[in-house]
Amino acid sequence: MKNSQTCPKCQQQRIIRIPGQAGAHGSGNNIPVGFTIFSSIMVTRFVCTSCGFSEEWIESPEDLETLAEKFG
Ligand SMILES: [Zn+2]
Repeated sequence: MKNSQTCPKCQQQRIIRIPGQAGAHGSGNNIPVGFTIFSSIMVTRFVCTSCGFSEEWIESPEDLETLAEKFG
């Protein structure tokens, strides 16, 4: 869905990208990996505006490395 821009559920191409955010008190779509919001990993959400299906992706290779180290 991220790459094809096509919804796997309804085959429509009405995909929007919602970037992750790190706000106060852990708000926003992110994964905390440290003690401050600066060490949160952003999770980008892709939403089909036709049927509502959504997918979440961590887009930064460095962030994926960090997650593997912390949770792997
Ligand atoms: Zn859809």
